[in-house]
Amino acid sequence: MSELLIYYNGEFVPKDKATVSIYDHGFLYGDGVFEGIRAYNGRVFKLDEHVDRLYDSAKAIALEVPITKAEMTEAILETLRKNNLTDAYIRPIVTRGIGDLGLDPRKCPMPSIYIISQEWGAMYGDLYEVGLKAITVGIRRNAPDALSPNIKSLNYLNNILAKIEANAKGGDEAIFLDQNGFVSEGSGDNIFVIKNGKIYTPPTINNLKGITRATAIELLEERGYEVAVQNLGLFDMYTADEIFVTGTAAEAAPITLLDGRKIGDGSVGPITKAAVAAFEEVTGTIGTPIFE
Ligand code: PMP
Repeated sequence: MSELLIYYNGEFVPKDKATVSIYDHGFLYGDGVFEGIRAYNGRVFKLDEHVDRLYDSAKAIALEVPITKAEMTEAILETLRKNNLTDAYIRPIVTRGIGDLGLDPRKCPMPSIYIISQEWGAMYGDLYEVGLKAITVGIRRNAPDALSPNIKSLNYLNNILAKIEANAKGGDEAIFLDQNGFVSEGSGDNIFVIKNGKIYTPPTINNLKGITRATAIELLEERGYEVAVQNLGLFDMYTADEIFVTGTAAEAAPITLLDGRKIGDGSVGPITKAAVAAFEEVTGTIGTPIFE
């Protein structure tokens, strides 16, 4: 296989040569934003939504992306074409760019843009069949009035600390609560809770406005399920019939054990299965064609 090409500021660079300056504030301070996107069967899933969110994240940190959304969209598609990828995970990154060792962004004259693409199968492997073991972590999600979880920033340390804690406790995924004890999100996914045939998901003030979350709500409502957006507590999770999480990388993944408690009867439930099936129906059939 030929070497993967990475987009860097308008050029395509072989993977091994695609290095980042140690003075890039994305590296020094996590000062930047990114997206995670998937392509299925030659179509990029929800590309416009991801590009919009990338620019919204950038806007929120006062980072002006030096290319238009249309140019970004084309750069993403061209990166896939150059690598001849039809099924891929795509990672556009915009950093504040190269500056000095001070943190003042005014010292960074030009943002850097990188787009990485590669093949990446099911993130949780065989666990989709049996469900994930999740752990509610002690560390709280970043407060919205400190570093809003709505911003998909390069600063993922909060998420990584959650993952470390979940790993140490034998969990496959971490569940965050927010500062008030409300359910927030997983380390890289949004949460859905099912009780008595009704589906609940937290509002997005304390979590990322997940594109898979929005898709799942739409697909489930189309199929006649009722989805309520409301605050949830740990009690709601422990007493749920089913829980699943959604994310671009994770897709739709069941949680069958939370903090040592079986969710429902501990097997993957019917509404979770319906959500997974609905998601599989649309991926690869809708989306922006790469090669047309
Ligand atoms: N929350 C966090 C913290 C994430 O990193 C992700 C993955 N981007 C999500 C939720 C899910 O978002 P999406 O469905 O848009 O991938």
